[in-house]
Amino acid sequence: MSMQSPVSELLVHGDAIRDNTARFLALTQGRIMAVLKADAFGHGSIAHSVLDAGASSIGVTSIAEALRLRAEGITAPILSWLNPPDADFAAAVRERIDLAVPSLELLHAIARAARDVGAPAHVHLYVDVGTGRDGCPTQLWSALCALAREHERAGTLRVVGVMGHLSCADDPGNPQNTRERMCFENAVRSARRRELAPETLHLAATAATLTGVGAGLGTHRIGAGLFGIDPSHTTQLLRPALTLATSVVSAREVAAGTGVGYGHEFVAPERTHLALLPLGYGDGLPRAASGRAEVFARGRRRPLVGRFSMDMVVVDTGDDALEPGESVTVFGPGDAGEPTVAEWAAWSNTIEHEIVTRVGCRVARVHRSLDAERGPGSAGPGAPPRSRVILSPTPSPE
Ligand SMILES: *Cc1c(COP(=O)(O)O)cnc(C)c1O
Repeated sequence: MSMQSPVSELLVHGDAIRDNTARFLALTQGRIMAVLKADAFGHGSIAHSVLDAGASSIGVTSIAEALRLRAEGITAPILSWLNPPDADFAAAVRERIDLAVPSLELLHAIARAARDVGAPAHVHLYVDVGTGRDGCPTQLWSALCALAREHERAGTLRVVGVMGHLSCADDPGNPQNTRERMCFENAVRSARRRELAPETLHLAATAATLTGVGAGLGTHRIGAGLFGIDPSHTTQLLRPALTLATSVVSAREVAAGTGVGYGHEFVAPERTHLALLPLGYGDGLPRAASGRAEVFARGRRRPLVGRFSMDMVVVDTGDDALEPGESVTVFGPGDAGEPTVAEWAAWSNTIEHEIVTRVGCRVARVHRSLDAERGPGSAGPGAPPRSRVILSPTPSPE
């Protein structure tokens, strides 16, 4: 098998992520848990850079994600908050991974694993302040705290944190925010009455931090914001951190009346040039954006035409005949005029989170600084060279 350079690349701009991290450090008096679930919202291995940039801990959903970070050499505290009762809690305790506890059942399972391993589990009790989704329902909270205290006395675990998650933080005027904040504060008081001494309290995520809904509430769990996504749409301060680029596979000139793709949803109204791109919904381009989305090729926006296929889409380049191998930008920060992730989200009737997390495994992740790309001087005088290109291993075709 020969080594080929990848046709499509997801460029991950570490400098943008570092700048975003710095913004959140400033907003939170330095207390950030970087949320790197779902492969860091699709951005790949960036844990070391967010920690270098000042994040103090990492949050993920599954224990598997946390173990992968440990295997990458991450020694900072890691919290895993979404686990079924038969998850590998023993591995988590052995690897010093903190665990969120939303139920008595999970508390039992974690305490059992800690006894087996012979080391105390570090847990964050997780109260449902109003999502109706995850976390401990408030009517069971006091029982959860009492049982956690018993286990603390027995030495099987330590309650190091209390957490909650807001349901409407992207809507700062929503009265639900105040109710949920009060609910969280009550839960913390109730835990303290049970003689628990959690040192880390965390309720706010990106939206609550940007809008101030989560002000003054200890540690902030920041995910989307690190990657330039503001769910509250209240700020322009963040830098998008991804560019999705591909290369033209082939190009052709077609006559007026030529139908393109499945179902001929597009029929060329006049003579035009089409270029074929090797990316489709199997690589994360939402099929729902068919007939609406654009890409950036040879200095201009160009419409994608026809229905998106699993592996390919077609771009209408009008009078311009693109060359096979020519580079095309699907989305990027928008500085050169290319479409942004936000535009792709709008074309697909979804949110930016879904666009960045769905880029498929056929697309190689390449870590490349934007500032370095823009040439000398852009990173400021005396700045260290920031271009670091690492090709992450992508599954090779058998
Ligand atoms: C995903 C998630 C976060 C991060 O939210 P953002 O809005 O992306 O910052 C925080 N807490 C929990 C429980 C989450 O599931």
